[in-house]
Amino acid sequence: MYLSPLNLIPWKKIESWACVHCGKCCSSYDIPVTFEEEERLKKYGNVFKKAKIGLYLRKKKGKCVFWRKNRGCTIYAERPKACRSYPFYVRKEGEEDAYFDGFFIYIDAECRGINKGDPNSLLQWIKYAIEIKNS
Ligand code: SF4
Ligand code: SF4
Repeated sequence: MYLSPLNLIPWKKIESWACVHCGKCCSSYDIPVTFEEEERLKKYGNVFKKAKIGLYLRKKKGKCVFWRKNRGCTIYAERPKACRSYPFYVRKEGEEDAYFDGFFIYIDAECRGINKGDPNSLLQWIKYAIEIKNS
């Protein structure tokens, strides 16, 4: 999720967000795995791939190894931080339209959940993304 976030929108430019479970982010991105996540997920076997820098979830037929048709993410409660915070990106610097409570919040324009759901929930999602970033 941290690769080439080229098209980021400041959060004040959108009305709402809700995941529509399209699965696009589970195929479009390489998902980085922290050391703690590696320890937690290694029980699933051959699910990682090594890159020059760091470890990522392996892909199978273009989708994350944990994604299944009609079921979606099969490790939802255990999914990496990168998946939990997507499509929100929490930065320490940014523009005024992205400012929230000491951080700068952007959203990946590629996510199909933009402007979906309840506008009153947007701040809750942003707070959740900050919480994940700080965890
Ligand atoms: S791309 Fe967005 S809407 Fe689609 S599954 Fe990922 S987070 Fe949900
Ligand atoms: S771990 Fe789950 S949410 Fe994350 S990319 Fe894989 S299938 Fe998608």
